[in-house]
Amino acid sequence: MTPIYLDYASTAPMLPEVAEAMRPYWAEKFGNPASAHSFGRQARRAVEDARERIADLLDAFPDEIIFTSGATEANNWALAGLPLPSDAVIVASPLEHPSVDEPLRHLQRRGLHLHQLGVTQEGSVAVTDPLWDTLCGVDLLVVMLVNNETGVIQPVAELTRRFGERVRHFHCDAVQAVGKLPVRFHDLGVTTLSVSAHKFHGPRGIGALLIRRGIRIEPLLRGGHQQLGRRPGTEPVPLIVGMAKALELAEKHRQERWNHVHHLRSCFLDRLQRSASPIHVNGDLERSIPHIVNVSFPGCPGDLLLARLDLTGLACSTGSACSSGSLLPSPVLRAMNLPEDRFKSALRFSFSHLTTETEVVSAAQLIADAVGSLRNPGTAPAHPSRSGRKPIE
Ligand code: PMP
Repeated sequence: MTPIYLDYASTAPMLPEVAEAMRPYWAEKFGNPASAHSFGRQARRAVEDARERIADLLDAFPDEIIFTSGATEANNWALAGLPLPSDAVIVASPLEHPSVDEPLRHLQRRGLHLHQLGVTQEGSVAVTDPLWDTLCGVDLLVVMLVNNETGVIQPVAELTRRFGERVRHFHCDAVQAVGKLPVRFHDLGVTTLSVSAHKFHGPRGIGALLIRRGIRIEPLLRGGHQQLGRRPGTEPVPLIVGMAKALELAEKHRQERWNHVHHLRSCFLDRLQRSASPIHVNGDLERSIPHIVNVSFPGCPGDLLLARLDLTGLACSTGSACSSGSLLPSPVLRAMNLPEDRFKSALRFSFSHLTTETEVVSAAQLIADAVGSLRNPGTAPAHPSRSGRKPIE
């Protein structure tokens, strides 16, 4: 049977138009953008043109866009590179991706004061957390725009509106939002924002950190003058060109893609309600992007269900790619204070405009069968071995 991919939040395939836009820059137009000759100038023009187009689509200035190898680098850089005082006060959401959470823990180990915002059972950070009454100044606020495990849109703009005056720096991981929601850097009121191209059907290995004009971030890498010395290294011209193309396509078709995916999510959940019940959706669907849905199947350990589905050809995830592989329950679902059976039996399904209705109907059927056999082991086929099997990325 043809495999079904419902793990687009982990990575999304590059679109043919993107590959086509990149093609000349691998071999024909191969110049180094730093070179002072016509080959170099041609490559430089391609990089700067892509930077301008990306800036325009994200409502930023071109000199605010610094290309990185992806969002893991962008998040690490934003947090490690800010010149924070040794007794800095940091307020962060506990729903962050590991590429944000671990650098924050590192700052905490160095003695900076890390406070976590409360989280609602619906999967959003609590805007009116009493923590705000106890803090007069915050050196760094860190809240992502869309959670990668539940799809819940976080109240970033509202936090800036209410508390912006007390906050010196605001870092936002917008990886799961870009291309799905309108992301306007200046309107959001954040000072740094991270982006990754492979989440919106661009190439893997390229992303950006947007840095508000006037904000100083120490480079992580040294040894070159590229990108104003902020992120040295020869720019990967084909990847940068591909990122701009993918973002253009995502923005151009954003509404129609959204409508399609929204319809798929309803269809998928309807089917699951009918055939795999009881199920619980984790996160408030009204305040989520439809591209990601997190569902618990009480009575079914998430890792076993994932392995069963993989054997039937359905690819999904137990959480973010970077935390799957460990069988620890998701910190995101834990922070939402869900009962144990809910977070231990949760799977993430993520869709794109490439997903078809036939796929979600078949997927729901495969899930219903697997859930049925796990809940009634007497009728189940032999369990797939836990050892040696890695959950899908
Ligand atoms: N942040 C979020 C919210 C993500 O979902 C991911 C990808 N799993 C990343 C950061 C890391 O992005 P990249 O793969 O570009 O390093």
